[in-house]
Amino acid sequence: MSMANVAGVSVDTRHFIGGERIASAQTFADHSPIDGVHLADISRGGKQEVDLAVAAAKAAFPIWSQMSPQERGAILHRVADLVEERIEELAIVETTDNGSLLRSHRRGVMPRVAMNFRFFADYAMNQLSYPDFETRGHTNHVTWDPAGVTGIITPWNAPLMLATWRIGPALAAGDTVVAKPPEWAPLTASLLADITAEAGMPPGVFNVVQGFGEEAGAALTAHPDLSRISFTGSVPTAKLVAKAAAENLVPCSFELGGKSPLIITDDADLDIAVTVAVEQYDNAGQVCLSGTRFLVQRGIAEKFKAAFIERAKQIKQGDPRDEATDIGPQIHPEHFTRVKGFVDRAVAEGQTVVLGGGPNSELGGNFFMPTLIDNPTVGSEIITQEVFGPVLCMQQFDTDAEAIEMANGTEFGLAAVVICGDKKRAEAITDRLVAGTIWVNCFFVRDLGAPFGGSKKSGIGREGGIWSFDFYADVKNTVFAPNGWKE
Ligand code: NAD
Repeated sequence: MSMANVAGVSVDTRHFIGGERIASAQTFADHSPIDGVHLADISRGGKQEVDLAVAAAKAAFPIWSQMSPQERGAILHRVADLVEERIEELAIVETTDNGSLLRSHRRGVMPRVAMNFRFFADYAMNQLSYPDFETRGHTNHVTWDPAGVTGIITPWNAPLMLATWRIGPALAAGDTVVAKPPEWAPLTASLLADITAEAGMPPGVFNVVQGFGEEAGAALTAHPDLSRISFTGSVPTAKLVAKAAAENLVPCSFELGGKSPLIITDDADLDIAVTVAVEQYDNAGQVCLSGTRFLVQRGIAEKFKAAFIERAKQIKQGDPRDEATDIGPQIHPEHFTRVKGFVDRAVAEGQTVVLGGGPNSELGGNFFMPTLIDNPTVGSEIITQEVFGPVLCMQQFDTDAEAIEMANGTEFGLAAVVICGDKKRAEAITDRLVAGTIWVNCFFVRDLGAPFGGSKKSGIGREGGIWSFDFYADVKNTVFAPNGWKE
């Protein structure tokens, strides 16, 4: 069966290669994390399908790359228009497939998907320039040329949003794309393929190969005809991708995991602190940027903890299709077991659980309760490794210097949050934090023009605004001599 009916929406379960739907002999089953219902059997691609898709993208490159940014932009804006027209369909399919909130998809995530196309199309048309400059009378002229075929591999926690945050700028830069969606949430990528065709994108410019990471993903990252690889996912997978890319010397952009600190100083606005702290459970903790390590100044720690627990107890866990629900399930039974394993081991080590601590027995299935572990042992697994579930830790500090040392004390450096009542003090702290993004007295404000990425093991490179084009395009400098012209 090539079509699946998911919550009333018809989704093609095949690959999208060279503008055609192509099936694989083998399939894999896709289930909803909400209730375990079987949603679809998806084509399980491998080297053969990846070869076809890269060949299609390579063949389409001369057509796409030679269009002007305006011509490409018109098509990308049509893609955005169609995304906006279909927000309801995209939202319900994404929710059903990965268990994240329907209300967030409707109001925030899917509009953002449209913006991922609009913003970068407009940037390529209007902002992609650098002033000419002189060297001993010669003129340096900088341009951003299309680079070739970009392979894009993305995770399941925000499938369409994270994919289009790479696909949008890659296409706007004039590259053609082969995307490998996450096998636990493969459906909205297929709907996007339909949209690109309907928007008039030439066949082969955007391709989707469905399948497992170790099959389709590995074949894509090992392909010699790629010019760029954009990977979002975990550190262990990134190491495999880097090795494969090294064989062909393909530049990679990596956006990886985190164990971000949330520092709360004793002069902080307690209401802001609690509101931002509770937000760290969003998407049932399956957010790379989550501030999962609360570092609270000792004088206010008990007061903060009590207020946080009271607020966190009001979080409504349940069916993510329900407007009143705040957090849904974990994506997959395997992931649920992984999250539970972290908490079970912490308990076995004698760590103190002050909130949650296990599966939500009323809801069953993949639902894990919002959990807080207080004062975990320094260096323990729960405070150093990424859980990627609704499991937060709280530690205390005395001086700002101590907070900074604790904040920087993991192998990650994706994000940091500082809640502080004094701007100068906050600046002194942020100056010394090692992180790609820092929020002060707020969380998750993300401008598509701002640089985004991770320090240390949380990533390589930055994307967003000009940084996206610096990666997806070939930046070229042409030096014009002042002489030699015939007239
Ligand atoms: P993952 O690394 O297991 O998988 C990510 C993608 O890589 C999937 O599409 C998977 O199929 C593919 N893959 C797996 N093995 C592969 C291989 N050998 N070769 C090529 N591709 C392969 O990660 P996940 O569990 O899907 O996602 C969670 C991780 O993603 C967390 O660590 C999270 O922090 C991170 N993440 C980072 C960001 C960011 O922007 N920094 C955003 C979201 C998630």
